[in-house]
Amino acid sequence: MEISPSAPRIALLPAVVRDQIAAGEVVERPASVVKELLENALDAGATQINVDLEEGGARLIRVTDDGGGMGPEDLGMAFTSHATSKLRDPSDLVHIASLGFRGEALASVASVARCQVISRTAESETGHRLSCEGGQQGEVTEAGAPLGTTLEVRDLFYNVPARRRFLKRPSTELGHCLAAVQRAALAHDGVGFVVNSDGRRAYDVEASMDFLARIRRTFGAELIDHLEPVNVNDGDLVLSGYLGSPRISRRDTSRQIWMLNGRYLRDRVLSRVLKEAYRGVLEEGRQPVAFLRLAMNPAAVDVNVHPAKSEVRFRDQRRLFGFLVSALKAAVHETDMATPGESMLAGRARRLVREENPLQGKLADPGAGPRPESVVRERTGRPFVPENDFISPGSVTQSHSASPASAPLQSSDPDSDPWAPTDNLQGPYLQVGKTFLLRALPDGFEIIDQHALHERLTYELLLQEVRAGKVEVQRLLVPEVVEVSRADRVLLEEHLESLSSLGIELASMGETSMMVSGLPARLRHPDPAGLVGDLIEVIGRTGEPPTASDVLEQVLHSCACRSSIMAGDVLSQEEIQSLLERARAAENDQTCPHARPTRVRFTLSDLERAFHRR
Ligand code: ADP
Ligand code: MG
Repeated sequence: MEISPSAPRIALLPAVVRDQIAAGEVVERPASVVKELLENALDAGATQINVDLEEGGARLIRVTDDGGGMGPEDLGMAFTSHATSKLRDPSDLVHIASLGFRGEALASVASVARCQVISRTAESETGHRLSCEGGQQGEVTEAGAPLGTTLEVRDLFYNVPARRRFLKRPSTELGHCLAAVQRAALAHDGVGFVVNSDGRRAYDVEASMDFLARIRRTFGAELIDHLEPVNVNDGDLVLSGYLGSPRISRRDTSRQIWMLNGRYLRDRVLSRVLKEAYRGVLEEGRQPVAFLRLAMNPAAVDVNVHPAKSEVRFRDQRRLFGFLVSALKAAVHETDMATPGESMLAGRARRLVREENPLQGKLADPGAGPRPESVVRERTGRPFVPENDFISPGSVTQSHSASPASAPLQSSDPDSDPWAPTDNLQGPYLQVGKTFLLRALPDGFEIIDQHALHERLTYELLLQEVRAGKVEVQRLLVPEVVEVSRADRVLLEEHLESLSSLGIELASMGETSMMVSGLPARLRHPDPAGLVGDLIEVIGRTGEPPTASDVLEQVLHSCACRSSIMAGDVLSQEEIQSLLERARAAENDQTCPHARPTRVRFTLSDLERAFHRR
């Protein structure tokens, strides 16, 4: 068929189709509707917001707030696209302080669902009602209503079957809706939230609850003991919240919550900030727990880059990044990093908790996984389980007189912190398998991995020397020649100077070999070939010089690790004591540079549990 040249080919899409396209960006599932309606209620100044859900929100989402409400004229405009009370002209876009601003949400939602809104302002005696179904708006009529707004969204995607089919089971959709409410609740002190799902209470926080109480209500009480408060500011930038100790780290990021000016964010820059702050204290693949609020001048951040407004662009990203990383690093080191022996008994402990409190974990967070499992792992990644012959007589060295097993274990003083470092480093120590040191504590005992601890110390001291610009170099009596590929030799050659400032003296020997002539004096039994291999790997991967701050740490880790000090060394009581004393002075002695624990503590209550005394 031929198209006549004069026939018009371009036409405006009907408004409802346009809105459905916009809805595709904003309304993905019931939780996205919940998020938008909550934002509207919060923007309206609500102090109490109730959410009723049926079938995970697919059948009904009703959000009731006690905010400022809408008069009849505003109500008549609310479902119109690009109608908003929050922006007047384009220049407002550079300092958005409200959660909404596009004027698109209600129009989008109404294009794919049956909506009804009832609202009353303080100035008006009566309220007003309006429905809008599939983009078809009805009349505004009078209706009795309390102050505030109730918005109902029924049968989401009833007119877009393809989208409706993509909805998951109601329990899954409910989980996402709850997460949306929880994020809003975590971001807004002073506002109470209640969620009922199919008539049952699914979540609530009272308006009077502070941030910590909200975290506790949302994620459970056992988390609270492992959080460290953060509170810093840098001019008009304020960071506050809580960081989890590495021992409650998780495999997923579901307990990393960043909020910026009351807006929940999933932002790559902020995820990197956390990764950086926990570098060296978390094992590969583990994710920290963090609940953080950032307040900054709205003009310093662009929120208009993502339809769901969950990503932003920071205007001065470099400064922000540096500030956040250093503030959080300091807080991470304040957390209790000792690996609890309890976590080795976690399987049993978890069972006990369930028996004692069958309701535990039912509320609040259906999407959340089980309690944080053990962070104690062997190199292989298998959970570390103490063997029955843990302290076998054959593997005990001669140098001790009394064993911790016979040392008195007093019952704990309820006021004393069982994890507080004991000041008394006096022995006797028991050395097991030429690798582990056992030592009695007032409230239990501690097992130290002498190699991991020494590795951590070597690393810390090297770092100090490098920072002070005075690394002591030990010339090798016989320089070691290491075979490398041609490309790797070229790569290393570019960095000879900065490597030498780290105490690593390398020179080219030919096309495919390098000579190692000096290494930091701290490294006791260095492994030059292994170290060169690591250098190639780290420098090649990052493409940055070994002195760049994030590369430096990796280079020094590899130095510390490659000097394999003390593996299998028999230690005297004096050597053990000096090791522990130096450890106490170090910034972080709870994990080795690869974030494996250096020490594991068993408290009396862990022991009682292990022996089924409780
Ligand atoms: P936006 O929030 O981006 O302005 P929406 O489509 O979400 O766009 O809402 C349109 C307008 O409807 C808002 O600007 C606001 O004036 C009004 N509105 C929506 N929900 C409420 C509410 N719960 N209380 C008071 N006003 C509301
Ligand atoms: Mg809105």
